[in-house]
Amino acid sequence: MEPISQLIARDIENIKLISFDADGVAIERGTQVLEKDGVLTVKSKVISPEMLVKIGKLKKSFKVNFSSGRNLLYLNYMFSPVLWENASLQGENGLLTLINGEILQQAALTKEELEKLEDIRTDLVEYSRKNENIKGFEPKQFIISVHCRQPDSQIEEIVKKHDPEEEIAVNWVSNEAYDIYLRRFNKGSGLRFLCDRLGITIEETMAIGNDPNDTPMVKIAGIGVTTDPTHMEAHYHTEGKLNLGGEEVVDRLLELL
Ligand SMILES: [Mg+2]
Repeated sequence: MEPISQLIARDIENIKLISFDADGVAIERGTQVLEKDGVLTVKSKVISPEMLVKIGKLKKSFKVNFSSGRNLLYLNYMFSPVLWENASLQGENGLLTLINGEILQQAALTKEELEKLEDIRTDLVEYSRKNENIKGFEPKQFIISVHCRQPDSQIEEIVKKHDPEEEIAVNWVSNEAYDIYLRRFNKGSGLRFLCDRLGITIEETMAIGNDPNDTPMVKIAGIGVTTDPTHMEAHYHTEGKLNLGGEEVVDRLLELL
């Protein structure tokens, strides 16, 4: 693993698409969208004016993509000034893509998968009623997202009970929530889907992430970058010069152009 300052112009000669994670990489952490007892609360962060200007410059040379575990509707709100030219958004770990005014889905879920997710959701809602540690559920289409004050292994046990086939991943994300989702739809398969759509290869991409749900995307990209090198492997890592790792990557790319 090398520091991002070691990235040189030749390395990015063939890169056509840059895919960023959202929370903690392209946007400061602190967004919360939560439903508990039928009440929805929203605490929002949007892309900063500084980052927006830099992404605008980056878009002159690359396509940019923001891939997140959040739902697409809310991502649209966080990143709307970045759209639409040379920009796309991917929600629910790459399952849903918003590009050129259109929502695309990698593939349909099967009846068995939908039923399994529903059974898990039902048990988790029941469990949350008697558990103060659970703050609420983040509304998403196909991911179950349980926000907790601290990690709770019982949540993983509930998923295991319904999923002997191990088709479902449970990731503790951004130190705030468990994302429970079908393994076959992840940020890596999402990046491949987007590449196919754009007519580019996976080698022509760079991906930047920090959490476990970013690993499939950072691993398969032509150039993978981590902003959290103590917890994630990649070709390059940021050096913590800025509080937002994605901005450090953008700064390096702009220097090289
Ligand atoms: Mg993140």
